[in-house]
Amino acid sequence: MNVNAQPTAQAVVEGKTILSIKNLESYYGPIMAIRGASLDVREGQIVTVLGANGAGKTTLLKTISGVMDPEKGQIFYAGQNIAGANPDKVVRLGMVHVPEGREVFPLLTVEENLKMGAFTRSDADGVARDEEMVYGYFPILAERRKQAAGTLSGGQQQMLAIGRGLMAKPKIMLLDEPSLGLSPILVKEIFQIVRRLNKEQGVTIMLVEQNAKVALEVADYGYVMELGRIVMADTADRLLASKDVQEFYLGVVEETQRGQKRWKQKKTWR
Ligand code: ATP
Repeated sequence: MNVNAQPTAQAVVEGKTILSIKNLESYYGPIMAIRGASLDVREGQIVTVLGANGAGKTTLLKTISGVMDPEKGQIFYAGQNIAGANPDKVVRLGMVHVPEGREVFPLLTVEENLKMGAFTRSDADGVARDEEMVYGYFPILAERRKQAAGTLSGGQQQMLAIGRGLMAKPKIMLLDEPSLGLSPILVKEIFQIVRRLNKEQGVTIMLVEQNAKVALEVADYGYVMELGRIVMADTADRLLASKDVQEFYLGVVEETQRGQKRWKQKKTWR
């Protein structure tokens, strides 16, 4: 397989495109972190972006949500090019970014954190309904609603960060590494809820992950990023079955001649 190829027609999935990124380039001073990335997210899907540490996944999400300005390229969303737009405007257009490391307001209560997520809204009844909707998905947050967010466990803070994102009533949620630092059981629980939010609330999800297995199990479509470029694109099922992805990310073992298993050596894409 030519892993350096850009997404091909064969890999295209049905559905309307909600977000389309073309030839994006982003820098930290002289460091080029995104090197001409292009990708599409279809409405109603969970699309994952996989990649090793430092591949540029977080930078990609920051550039899409307006936290960082790109040097070049376009980000088409809601009928316009939002490249370089204010994060505030991006939220008002229905896109929320749940950053890596949760970043809840530690001194505010759970309830206050959720209300902060609704800062763009003026429909008090709708906000109150959505707060209850969040508690429905994350009952532990309802129990802790008067507790300071900084005293919650890591998993509870991740739930709160997702819940706060939901309070903006997003059409699309950019989710950065929700599995980071959590136990496998908690990761499973959070990913099941993410899938339910996608199906039941109709929120399109762009999910950045290093944990390829769990991400591909919930996703419809996936991209692999390396050194600021998209090096692979396919349906999640095909990526999960792909030998390259298995060897690189899933630690799949192969049989030796004597029938013993050994770990395959990690390979790079080029
Ligand atoms: P991780 O999962 O470890 O966060 P990532 O795929 O999200 O990795 P990024 O955090 O987007 O990767 O980093 C992409 C590149 O940009 C890396 O080479 C990184 O060292 C660099 N980088 C990230 N943040 C900064 C920064 N604030 N200043 C300078 N360089 C940065």
